[in-house]
Amino acid sequence: MTYVKDITALIEAFAPLSLQEDYDNAGLICGDPGNEVSSALLCTDITEAVIDEAIAGHHNLIISHHPLTLQGVKNLVPDNYIKRCLLKAIRNDLNLYAAHTNMDAVIKGVSGKMAEKLGLTDQTVLQTNGRLFSLTFFTPEKEAEKIRTAVLEAGGGHIGKYSHCSFNNRGLGTFLPQEGTHPYCGEKGHLHTEAEIRTEITVPEYLLPSCIQALKSVHPYEEPVWNTVCIDNVNPSTGFGIVGYLPEETETRVFLQQLKQLFGCGTIRHTGICCPTVKKIAVCGGSGAFLIRHAIQSKADIYITGDIKYHDFFQAENRIILADIGHYESEQYTKEIFYELLTKKIPKFAVQFSKVNTNPINYL
Ligand SMILES: [Zn+2]
Repeated sequence: MTYVKDITALIEAFAPLSLQEDYDNAGLICGDPGNEVSSALLCTDITEAVIDEAIAGHHNLIISHHPLTLQGVKNLVPDNYIKRCLLKAIRNDLNLYAAHTNMDAVIKGVSGKMAEKLGLTDQTVLQTNGRLFSLTFFTPEKEAEKIRTAVLEAGGGHIGKYSHCSFNNRGLGTFLPQEGTHPYCGEKGHLHTEAEIRTEITVPEYLLPSCIQALKSVHPYEEPVWNTVCIDNVNPSTGFGIVGYLPEETETRVFLQQLKQLFGCGTIRHTGICCPTVKKIAVCGGSGAFLIRHAIQSKADIYITGDIKYHDFFQAENRIILADIGHYESEQYTKEIFYELLTKKIPKFAVQFSKVNTNPINYL
């Protein structure tokens, strides 16, 4: 049996809700974490057509990129599409879930998916924003490897292209088990000295809860000891936008045509073609004009995003090509991330892409 909470835990282990922006409303929007689910419909936006599709297809969970509700709903009177969707979802026992700016903020998230579609190599985050912590914990020597492995497998210990990074030193721990304890080693009422290992592992802030949970789940002590310290180093794995390289330098006009085809764009709005070929590419799914400065600083040849306003285009100043491929177009493949996560971890769970094109913008 699969429950809503199993699905949300899976997605949030990949893109934790703590990474979402203040204005956002990612997470479970309608339904109950304890509801049993058998099938999910994946989409970019929830509209009435998507709700109808879910009901007709007997899906009891809809996973969208954009949350149906960003602002508060004061009543449930069917006077706009958001409230009509909510009413219909409630009446039909549909659970609605969204992974929005939290999915934007992870390296393999929305922009990472765009970069994957373009075949970009050596991908890095355009604007990093996460904090790193040093997680220190103490383990009995004979259990040290098992506990360290659990923390590393929960995502700790990644530095650049190195995984499983940790520092370990031997030492002696002391404790005196008091009344009411059940010590793993030593005796109640006697001061005990145990050969221990002190391990330090670098962990991104968003993975701290899962690393500490992993530590606690395998640590044999009744009272495992750990502490965390925020360190100054930048976390390279969270933030907005991605920059990377095309496998081959490509003529700019050819690349723009390929881009239009790949993302099914009605049109691409772009600044002057200031370089005859492109190789270094910056991307950001959705409304990415706020990263134009970062894209220029990264020395990318072209920056691809959506929702660029007239005055934003002036920032290019022949230093970069700005290309607006459309908000929906840039984020349409995000649902593939949900598909990959769910089918990999819960093989028997039914997952289907919505057939509804929810892009509200048409091109003449
Ligand atoms: Zn968006």
